[in-house]
Amino acid sequence: MDWMNQLRDQIGADVIFTDPTTRLAYSFDATPNYQTLPDAIVAPRSTENVRAVLQLSHKHLLPVVPRGSATNLAGGTTPLSGGVVMDFHYMDRILEIDEKNLTVTVEPGCITTHLAQAVEARGLFYPPDPSSMKISTIGGNISENSGGLRGLKYGVTADYVLALEVVLPNGEVLRTGGKLAKDVAGYDLTRVLVGSEGTLAVITQATLKLIPLPETKQTMLAYFEDLDSAARTVSRIFENRIIPATLEFMDKKTIEVVEAYANIGLPTDVGALLLLEQDGPRDVVRRDIEAMHAVCLEEGALSVEVARDEAHAETLRYARRIALSALARLSPTTITITHFAELEAVSLRIDAC
Ligand SMILES: Cc1cc2nc3c(=O)[nH]c(=O)nc-3n(C[C@H](O)[C@H](O)[C@H](O)COP(=O)(O)OP(=O)(O)OC[C@H]3O[C@@H](n4cnc5c(N)ncnc54)[C@H](O)[C@@H]3O)c2cc1C
Repeated sequence: MDWMNQLRDQIGADVIFTDPTTRLAYSFDATPNYQTLPDAIVAPRSTENVRAVLQLSHKHLLPVVPRGSATNLAGGTTPLSGGVVMDFHYMDRILEIDEKNLTVTVEPGCITTHLAQAVEARGLFYPPDPSSMKISTIGGNISENSGGLRGLKYGVTADYVLALEVVLPNGEVLRTGGKLAKDVAGYDLTRVLVGSEGTLAVITQATLKLIPLPETKQTMLAYFEDLDSAARTVSRIFENRIIPATLEFMDKKTIEVVEAYANIGLPTDVGALLLLEQDGPRDVVRRDIEAMHAVCLEEGALSVEVARDEAHAETLRYARRIALSALARLSPTTITITHFAELEAVSLRIDAC
């Protein structure tokens, strides 16, 4: 292929892969039932490399699919008809932690957990924590606008993206946003690009907002006889003017599936559980945890388990973090529901079938 030889000349043969094994490995992602072989996999080392690939593919009308760790559940990194999959594992550096402006600038292939750990070592906090964060990349998180367990209090990835460097399909490099909070004139192209799933441009650099690391954090798990009492507890917590760092529920089926998958000692005779966390100054955390504990009991919680230490807290969180993988084992087509109202709507539809 003529374009392949041109690409090799421009960016080097060592970052282009066309062997059948690699093509097969890049023909699918975490989404079940989608698979198409790409013609080539390109792993750029720089924005210049990305530019070269896009200029050439533009000229030859080749599809290019950017790919982080392929954990998306929307077929976003599966090629539709050959072309190039662009893999970012070489572009994974943390370029700058700016302690004066509380920002971090990274390349798109940076694994989310690596970023979180690097900033926490400096007393700073990057809140978005998708359950896939140990393997997913910042480029993928931005492109999917990922949320996580802390989303209720801290928001989602979009709330932390300050600036982007992207390469447009014709190879042009565009910089959006910046570190200045009041730099808001003109169209908010950063927001347009966040969540665009690789359809508008390829992200080559991102500057993200950081906040001070909360002084402390407390975790607890409450078990309920049914979903209604868990739902009432959630409303009562908000009524009490508490925004927990995490407030996630699991219904009976999910609890059973998670326990069968991970065997972590979850009681399978309960109707629902709530994972509750608060972070912040020590006295605020103590006050909010006590108040939420009381509400759980008032709404009929069967028991409430408060984490003794961080290791115990991680065990309590683990059940929720692996829920998606456990459910996917049950059925490859998994719908994620984030609101009780949606849950009600889905169960009505299922009942009607
Ligand atoms: C077990 C599990 C748990 C999960 N938990 C959560 C969760 O809690 N919250 C949540 O929101 N999601 C979750 N997800 C979904 C998924 O992990 C996230 O969407 C994640 O952000 C994807 O990151 P990735 O690096 O794997 O991206 P990929 O899957 O590789 O790519 C995702 C999309 O981004 C595009 N893309 C990737 N890199 C770039 C780039 N540099 N420039 C432009 N476009 C790019 C791709 O083309 C694709 O459309 C989970 C998935 C799994 C399998």
